[in-house]
Amino acid sequence: MSPISQRYTRRQILGIIGISIIGSWLKSEAKEPTNRINDMTNIQIDSTIGYENGKYVLPPLPYAYDALEPFMDEASVRLHHDKHHAGYVAGANAAAEKLREIADGKLDASATTNWVRALSFNLSGHVLHSIFWTNMTPTPKPAPEGALAEAINQKFGSLEAMLKTFKAASLGVEGSGWGILGLDPLSKTLIICGAEKHQNVEVPGIIPLLVCDVWEHAYYLKHQNMRANYIEDFCKLINWDDVENRYLCAIG
Ligand code: MN
Repeated sequence: MSPISQRYTRRQILGIIGISIIGSWLKSEAKEPTNRINDMTNIQIDSTIGYENGKYVLPPLPYAYDALEPFMDEASVRLHHDKHHAGYVAGANAAAEKLREIADGKLDASATTNWVRALSFNLSGHVLHSIFWTNMTPTPKPAPEGALAEAINQKFGSLEAMLKTFKAASLGVEGSGWGILGLDPLSKTLIICGAEKHQNVEVPGIIPLLVCDVWEHAYYLKHQNMRANYIEDFCKLINWDDVENRYLCAIG
């Protein structure tokens, strides 16, 4: 078994794409809760776990809070991970619990819409942040290699052209959201898009490989209103090994 397949299974990678499958998960929950939930939402990134024993859990950072300095400051990383990401984890668990109560008849079904929305928002936030942390490293290599590098060249012409588009997509997100480099599972080619908030991905169903959080909470302490500068700094931290692993698992 290669190191890559030891780190991720295809199921795990597909599982972290909870954004597009929350609906089907909800439909199936009542029938076979344990297996189905594990199947769909088993977020396992490196040795960190995003879902464990029936609950979403906050994965620890794969580096120290100050490890991404000077491009991403310690105070922002600490607040971002320990407060914002943790909040999405708590929100996802609360919403999932309420939906279970509705399914069990303990809570009126008229509340369903609110809790579905809450689960969509918070679980999508949990998924994207879990990818975001592992997409960065204090010791980045300058460029992707292997199959990912080939796929980038094939689709965009060069790494520079891909990053130019990725940065522009991230910069252009209206309000709070994400820039995303993902795999279109239909064409099996790379695609760049944005997402508003967490759950409103412009291309539903894509498998995110590289995600840039452009919520102000990600950068305002250090970069103030200069989102473009923050995006430039994020791109200096990209963990291409992680993106390569995600790509290989996504294409299967
Ligand atoms: Mn964030």
